[in-house]
Amino acid sequence: MKYYIVLLAVVVCLCAIAYRYWRKDVCSPVRIIETEDGIIEIVDPACQEGLPHTSDSNTIRMTESAYADSRSATTLKHERVHLDQKRNPAVWYEFYRRFWEYDVRQEPPYGIPKEYVKQLRPNPDTADKPWAVWRNRWVFFPTYGPNTTLRKADVRVWDLNTERFTSPPPEWRAMFCVSNTCPHQYEHPHELAAEYIAEGHQSDAAVKLFNWKH
Ligand SMILES: [Zn+2]
Repeated sequence: MKYYIVLLAVVVCLCAIAYRYWRKDVCSPVRIIETEDGIIEIVDPACQEGLPHTSDSNTIRMTESAYADSRSATTLKHERVHLDQKRNPAVWYEFYRRFWEYDVRQEPPYGIPKEYVKQLRPNPDTADKPWAVWRNRWVFFPTYGPNTTLRKADVRVWDLNTERFTSPPPEWRAMFCVSNTCPHQYEHPHELAAEYIAEGHQSDAAVKLFNWKH
């Protein structure tokens, strides 16, 4: 019996190591493009399901097709905002706190049931502090898409007062949306900022950001 347990432990360890190598290989660059603001690593579509992202404060990863796409310039502008956020996190967090009333946290706020905490969809661009709390009450976070996919992540809003999920509150919409047009990526202020800067927006929140950035 003892030997079976040891054997099982060895197999589990080997599988874990193989999985780590496989994951690493999937995101290793096919080619590297140097730019004036960071490097671009062209990666396999299996890396982060082909979603463009930053892996550190100087590296943008994207697939060959995303790089060749007509939206490539917008995507790069978006990802370069994430590079800046990784270079100067404290400055961004201070802006969010003072002007957007967001407090971002590494740990989930107390009160969110564990089953929902486990559904947090990881995002390399917000990994530092993925939990976004607005006005000390509403917790914004993305959850996995169907079959634990990264794409089609549903953004959920947990109300710490009523202890249940809710829609983005009207006060939030008044600040971050304009005539019912809300940002697509509202899971976290890092994503809101990147989307506003890359694509433009006229909400009060976007105007505050543009004034701060100039
Ligand atoms: Zn982003």
